[in-house]
Amino acid sequence: MKIKTKLNIGVGVLFMMIFVLSVLSGWYINQLKKDTNNILKANYNTLQYSRNMLLALEEIDSDPLAFSVFEKHLQQQQKNVTEPGEKEATDNVAIHFEALKKHPANFGLQTSIRKDLAELMQINMSAIEHKSTVADSTAKNAIIVISSVGMVCFIIAFILMVNLPSNIADPIKSLTESIKQIANQNYKERVHFESRSEFGDLTNSFNIMAEKLQEYSESRLDKIIRGKKRIETLIDNMHDPVIGIDEDRKVLFVNDEALKITGLRKENFVGKLIQDVAVNNDLVRDIIKDVIVPDKINPEKEPMKIYANGKESYFEKEIVDINIVPTGEQQSHFIGQVIMLRNITPFKELDLAKTNFLGTVSHEFKTPISSIQMGLQLLENEQIGDLNSEQKNLVNGIREDSNRLLKITGELLNITQVESGLIQLNMKASDIKNIVDYAIGANRSSAEQKHIHFKVNIEEGLSVVLADSEKTAWVLNNLLSNAVRYSYENSNINIDVRKIDDKIQFSVTDTGQGIAPQYLSKIFDRYFRVPGSKKEGTGLGLSISKEFIEAQGGEITVKSEYGAGSTFTFDLKA
Ligand code: ADP
Repeated sequence: MKIKTKLNIGVGVLFMMIFVLSVLSGWYINQLKKDTNNILKANYNTLQYSRNMLLALEEIDSDPLAFSVFEKHLQQQQKNVTEPGEKEATDNVAIHFEALKKHPANFGLQTSIRKDLAELMQINMSAIEHKSTVADSTAKNAIIVISSVGMVCFIIAFILMVNLPSNIADPIKSLTESIKQIANQNYKERVHFESRSEFGDLTNSFNIMAEKLQEYSESRLDKIIRGKKRIETLIDNMHDPVIGIDEDRKVLFVNDEALKITGLRKENFVGKLIQDVAVNNDLVRDIIKDVIVPDKINPEKEPMKIYANGKESYFEKEIVDINIVPTGEQQSHFIGQVIMLRNITPFKELDLAKTNFLGTVSHEFKTPISSIQMGLQLLENEQIGDLNSEQKNLVNGIREDSNRLLKITGELLNITQVESGLIQLNMKASDIKNIVDYAIGANRSSAEQKHIHFKVNIEEGLSVVLADSEKTAWVLNNLLSNAVRYSYENSNINIDVRKIDDKIQFSVTDTGQGIAPQYLSKIFDRYFRVPGSKKEGTGLGLSISKEFIEAQGGEITVKSEYGAGSTFTFDLKA
């Protein structure tokens, strides 16, 4: 039943009952009033007249007016006959009064009148008693009927009071609960409320809405799951190992490649803290080194060597922080990291092939160059025969070119040593002066050609340095050769050797063209040459120098003012 109908019926019945109650009460009150009025009018007046007639009768002997008083009350009584037998009694009074009027001294008549009046009073008193009994029963009936109707009213009101509020409030409560569930994205929530009232309609509409929301959310979820699967497949099919961790370093995903190289199974990886996985796996420990203690300044650049796919493979590690800005927020939140290992084995293999090729070629070049130089020496030997001036010029040209060729093959051989990690050091107390003299000697003729002077300044008392004298001399030679090449004619080149703390510092300062600031950080890179540099060269000299110095535990640096000159400095242990 509709709430509105229920309310209408409830309130309507209550209203009707109250109406009936009021009508009944009115009717009974009216009835009681009628009864009392009847007693008053019909019987009380008769008693009053009878009493007055008796009083007048007492006066009759002494007061002649008493007759008229008696007659007046008799006439009033004659008009007020209401009870059965009252008429006869009144008539008797009238008859005997008429007789008394004729014979006033007749005491017998007076006595008869008194008896008649007593009879009249008796009739009326009996009537009063009877009527009082009737009024009493009317009052009793009124009490019973009114209280019964009142009781029914009370019961109906009570039923309404108990049922109506819960009838309205209960569905609202259960709907409110369900709305809260929906608000918390629990779209499976339904309201089970069997009713034909308005709440039934509301429940139906709510359930339809919840079903549609569920369908929508599931379709969205389905989309998200499919997207996730797609990305997982993509990651799984990547040829590079990938590991994803959350902000607490718990492994979220790991692809097949990563499983292959670590030799772990997915269930031993996913869902575990990565540091716990690392405890039993050296490779994982190596991979997460930068995750646990991030080295922001010097992130590891060296490729990782891992035995994978049945051979030694090289991987470059990259750790990407995942930061997201949640909807409606301004600040980004860190939610995890992705560790990617890029397989650079093919490049490494190519690099190795190149190094081997360079090594072989430069090694093979050395023998013919040596024979050329030996041939030149023989040609220059006067005992064998004189050369004319043109031939001498030709021989000089050949010597210069063969020297250059020797330098280049030497550099190429050195770089193959460096690249294959096979720098062999012979560290010993080496004579500083010898090193400096060797480098100067090697560059003397080219310096003389440009009228460049070397100014050597070795701090007093300094004689030895702990170094591989050959490699150190090679580095100093390379720095001097660069200084000569990049200096203007008629300039000076300073060679300073001094002791700073427990280190011996060599520096070569020229006043040549200098190096533009944007190239300063690159000149120690392999094969790097400042763009537009017209002087011949391989771009290898400084990178080999750096490797040689660092291999000896030293450091090489450069300071340069573009257009004013450069200072190259390296230091070694004293
Ligand atoms: P290269 O064989 O080209 O000289 P290096 O590795 O020795 O190779 O030097 C790399 C680059 O650094 C050179 O190409 C040159 O441009 C620059 N450079 C090196 N030394 C000097 C210097 N003393 N003055 C100016 N530029 C220099």
